[in-house]
Amino acid sequence: MEGLRPEQDLTVSEWADRYRMLSSKASAEPGPWRTSRTPYLREPMDVLSSNSPIQRVVLMFAAQTGKTEAGSNWLGYVIAHAPGPMLAVQPTVEMAKRLSKQRLESMITETPILAEKIAPSRSRDSGNTMFSKEFPGGMMLLTGANSATGLRSTPCRYIFCDEVDAFPPDVDGEGDPVSLAEKRATTFARRKILLTSTPTVKDFSRIEAEYERSDQRRFYVPCPCCGAMQWLKWPQLKWEKNDPSTAVYECEVCRERFAEIHKPAMLRQGEWRATAPSDRKTAGFQLSGLYSPLGWLSWADMVDDFLRAKADAPMLKSFVNTRLAETWEEDFASKVSAAGLVERCESYAPGRVPERALAVTIGVDVQDNRLAVSVWAWGREEEGWLMDHQEVYGDPSGPELWKQLDVLVLNKWEHDGGGELVADAVAIDSGGHYTAEVYQYARERQASGVIAIKGQSQRGKPPIGKATKVDINAKGRVLKRGAQVFPVGSDTVKTTLFGRLKHNEPGPGYLHFHQQTGSEYFEQLTAEKQALRYVKGFPVREWVKKPSARNEALDCLVYAYAALNRMYQRYDRRTIWDQLEKRLEKPGEKTRRAPLRSRAGTPPSAFVSNW
Ligand SMILES: [Zn+2]
Repeated sequence: MEGLRPEQDLTVSEWADRYRMLSSKASAEPGPWRTSRTPYLREPMDVLSSNSPIQRVVLMFAAQTGKTEAGSNWLGYVIAHAPGPMLAVQPTVEMAKRLSKQRLESMITETPILAEKIAPSRSRDSGNTMFSKEFPGGMMLLTGANSATGLRSTPCRYIFCDEVDAFPPDVDGEGDPVSLAEKRATTFARRKILLTSTPTVKDFSRIEAEYERSDQRRFYVPCPCCGAMQWLKWPQLKWEKNDPSTAVYECEVCRERFAEIHKPAMLRQGEWRATAPSDRKTAGFQLSGLYSPLGWLSWADMVDDFLRAKADAPMLKSFVNTRLAETWEEDFASKVSAAGLVERCESYAPGRVPERALAVTIGVDVQDNRLAVSVWAWGREEEGWLMDHQEVYGDPSGPELWKQLDVLVLNKWEHDGGGELVADAVAIDSGGHYTAEVYQYARERQASGVIAIKGQSQRGKPPIGKATKVDINAKGRVLKRGAQVFPVGSDTVKTTLFGRLKHNEPGPGYLHFHQQTGSEYFEQLTAEKQALRYVKGFPVREWVKKPSARNEALDCLVYAYAALNRMYQRYDRRTIWDQLEKRLEKPGEKTRRAPLRSRAGTPPSAFVSNW
């Protein structure tokens, strides 16, 4: 089909300025499209035009800069002006459905030149369905990067991969979805491939890798004071303490500071400049939210976002990715050392609930000849205190060891502010060799908040998920009412906790250790680090144990933290800490002192405390 129709010399931006209507349903500024509103989109769109020799276009853009509309303009240009077979890939099939229903349908119906080319989806045999749009001279297929079948479709001259950093590294065991999609275009000499995304984690970001292989264009704008051309960088934005409304930009050359009101003129006079050698086939563009036009996202909004996010690693990551369009470096583990943690031990008494703590959880790791048990106290905003860490030796297949665990699970822990607390939740790992025993204990001690858990190493899992029912097989017979097992997002939790071990100031998320915590505990706590592993040529970040190291202290903390998250399933998360505080404030309880030793008595001699 290629080359059968004459294509007049119209660029994508010219086409959009002439024909594209922004839908009132999908756009904040409905009406005719104007490239002059976002001058930095002109060149990225125009290299997608038929008359440009560029084959591969990479957009690493911040949110709210118009990159999605630039992609839509290209889709419209292909349908109306440069028809050919096209494949549009979203991260999932579900998102492809949303793109089709929400964006594409309204763009087609509200842009007359497109409505002429594509029959309404209502009519029978219209060639217009959710996942395919036929038009004279071509066809657009929509699919998700999670569907190998969708990616293996017919040859396509145009490939549009949107939000590639959200694509899975591997689809149905057939490899990288971007490569699969791109294979569709290899037979076309005049192919065009568009890859867009906000970036994610350094070394794992596809869009960054693609950008780094490109000519790395930056949008240079003139300083309103001295005229020096420069691209806008976040560290040049200045403001008065905690007041986003004072945000101004400091010119790198003349050091004058200027307000955002100059932005429209600067954008108008801006130009893309390559900062790396070009292969003449690939064009890469990077743009932060600092360029967002007036009325979309202001510098003050960005400072406001930054001030909210700066203390919290996940929020700061999102700021860096979506506002600055830069990757986030996850190097937490490398900066946490056992020696550094020993130095920050504090002089609070082990085995007691510290004054500011409001809940107690326990994490239990099951080994073949012992249980490792950590007791953690938690205060507002997940400030944590290690109360106790023990190794209980015995045979997990017999009842004796579990009776010893009972001593800790049922113990009443004295609170420094008066009163006592028993553990609210206890999480025991069922992933070892004694799964049935763990299930059985969890079932028997359900009323005491005991749950069986199973770690999940995949990224992006919640700290604790929905329980599934499992059968218990005790001594060859299946017990009637089975047990529940809760999935724990170990990878997620470790990332969170290592971020917190890096905190230097007590407060939200800080983890406290008492002075009797020995160095062996910290060796175990820091026994894992994040490492890059390549799966089919793609980097995968995962937590790996240092060779021959023990890591039970870390596992116990992960499980105790999962147990805390189990409490969020039972309490209203917004008010949980108020509710837990009220529990301690019950009249009389504040002054009542518990006996010096807990009611459960002195731990039996089987307890061996290593530290
Ligand atoms: Zn200047």
